[in-house]
Amino acid sequence: MNHENKMRERICELALSMFQRGLTFGASGNISVRLDNGWLMTPTGSTMGNLDPARLSRLDANGRLISGDKPTKEAFLHQTMYDCRHDAEAVVHLHSSHATAVSCLDCEDCTSVLPPLTPYFVMRVGQLPMVPYFPPGDPDLAGAVGKLAGEHHAVLLANHGPVVAGTSLDNAAFAMEELEETAKLFLLLQGMRTRPLDTAQVDELNTRFGKK
Ligand code: ZN
Repeated sequence: MNHENKMRERICELALSMFQRGLTFGASGNISVRLDNGWLMTPTGSTMGNLDPARLSRLDANGRLISGDKPTKEAFLHQTMYDCRHDAEAVVHLHSSHATAVSCLDCEDCTSVLPPLTPYFVMRVGQLPMVPYFPPGDPDLAGAVGKLAGEHHAVLLANHGPVVAGTSLDNAAFAMEELEETAKLFLLLQGMRTRPLDTAQVDELNTRFGKK
């Protein structure tokens, strides 16, 4: 099986797994993968629980649809991440419940909305900044994401949900899951005295494992 077909299968497999575990629902959420000469993207109006590998949107290097169904209306979010991050091989965007709940909180420090609760969050996600709110499809949303995406492979859209780029499809998906789980822990710990990792502990992880 060639690389493109493998990626088609893997997108559908990961999307179904996320759908079955309640990380995405209805027609929300989208996934894309960079190819040598374009992109694969989940189609608009599709549910991640029932994707057909043959009908994924195939875009050329200029982002034009060359086969499959029309791409997600949130394609511009993916495009912005790829434009800003040349190492990005895949992008996952969800409206997963816990991360979206955090996106509705008033952030004290909007440059880092989730504390480093576990080493796995530090290793897979790192710092998570909040992107200010814009209505879905607003072109200014792409500009706001673009301001942060060069420095951060994961961002949280206010009152909307997370966008995560990865150096492979699996890395992007696993980072997204780590982000969602950390958002859940953060909400579980609200009102309790917590002990996030300190700066020295975070620095040590970054030195030891490098940034994903
Ligand atoms: Zn969205």
